Amino acid sequence: MKVEIIKCLEDNYSYIIVDEKNQTACVIDPSEAQPIINFVEEKKIYLKYILNTHHHYDHIGGNEELKKKYNSKIVGFKEDRNRIPGINEFVENNQIWKADNFEAKIFHVPGHTSGHIAYHFYKERKIFTGDTLFSLGCGRIFEGTYEEMFNSLNKIKNLSDDTEIYCGHEYTLQNSKFCIYHDSKNLNLKKKIIEIEEKVRKGLPTIPSILKDEIECNIFLKAKDLESFSKLRDLKDNF
Ligand code: ZN
Ligand code: FE
Repeated sequence: MKVEIIKCLEDNYSYIIVDEKNQTACVIDPSEAQPIINFVEEKKIYLKYILNTHHHYDHIGGNEELKKKYNSKIVGFKEDRNRIPGINEFVENNQIWKADNFEAKIFHVPGHTSGHIAYHFYKERKIFTGDTLFSLGCGRIFEGTYEEMFNSLNKIKNLSDDTEIYCGHEYTLQNSKFCIYHDSKNLNLKKKIIEIEEKVRKGLPTIPSILKDEIECNIFLKAKDLESFSKLRDLKDNF
């Protein structure tokens, strides 16, 4: 199983998970169709599944066009069935989604939106977190409560610490500025910032991040309780 990182729109990432044995693939959150089509055509793979983390336009923008072109199945959270375009397979919290050689556990992680889910490919130790957990940040709370977001992040935090985090946006460098401002003595963070700056300079993605690094460096994962988390979330909105 190989994950290809596809840049979309301004700063979105879509991810194509390729099963090289069968030349089949899933795409996570196709923001737009064309970059996905380019990759799929070039590699001559069959795009069998589209997996959405939530209904925002920058995560579902390519759904309909890809479905039409490849007859792909569109997977999304059951309760978001009326706002995920083209959806035809509904998943629930804690369900195992299994298709061909793909196998992921569904985590309902409300906060950014009420129907946000993450896909945990537990055999590969990779999780696709959409706009819930970012590298060195977390999503804005649009539809949920602080408590929901805090609990959602804690679910992800409890995975094994070598888990790779694939999030929906390249916000890492910007996020690092907020983290270091409030956590200026964190040596792990300082080290990570040097790595991030180097990647950005070379035009490389800073994703995936490793959960261990996030636990040590992401100020939102370091928040001890709901109160301090909520305060940080407010400060970040105005940073
Ligand atoms: Zn979003
Ligand atoms: Fe987004």
